[in-house]
Formats: sequence, structure tokens, C-alpha cells
Amino acid sequence: MNCRIVQYSDLTMCTKCHLSWDTNDVSPPVCKNKITKIIFINQKKLQSLMEVIINTAIGYIIAVTAQCYIFPIFNIHIPISDDLKIGLIFTVISIARSYILRRFFNYINCR
Ligand SMILES: [Zn+2]
Repeated sequence: MNCRIVQYSDLTMCTKCHLSWDTNDVSPPVCKNKITKIIFINQKKLQSLMEVIINTAIGYIIAVTAQCYIFPIFNIHIPISDDLKIGLIFTVISIARSYILRRFFNYINCR
């Protein structure tokens, strides 16, 4: 298995050896395997990731809260633990939908 180096700001790490070091380290640890790929994570990607996480968390809270009010209107009475599980299932479906659509449009735009 070859090594993959990920560099984010001042932190550099190998995902295979689980080594991490300061990017400016003059004598960084040596990887056990051949290095095949160096990935630079920029601030923009990290911000996008944060946005997705926050968006998903807020979406989950809103969905569960809405269920608590909407389900009784349809005479559905379930414990809060079930509300939380149902919210989680739909959150996972929502993430999958967003991901598939994003990949699909990326594919169309890159042709
Ligand atoms: Zn390594």
C-alpha cells in the first residue's frame, strides 16, 4: 500500500502511516512506503465541509422539530426516540441526494 500525504496549512500527515508533522519541520518523519499522492486541502474546501456539516445539523434539528408538530396532525404518536431515528434516516437520504446531484452536475459540466 502506497502512502498518501495530506497537507493542510501548517500540518502535514500521512494517511497510511498515521504520521503527522509540522509542514515547516526540517527533518520530518520518513514514510514507510512509496509516496504516490500529495493532497493539499485549502481553506475553501474546509469551509465547504464546515458549511455542509452545519447545514446538515440545522436541517436535522428542523426536521425533528417539524415532525413533533406535524405527525400528531396525522394522528401519528411516536416517542421522541423514534422521531430522532426517522429524522436521521431522512437526513442520510438528503445527504445522498445532494451528493449524487452534485456529482451528476459535475460530470455534465466537465464533459
Ligand atoms: Zn506514509
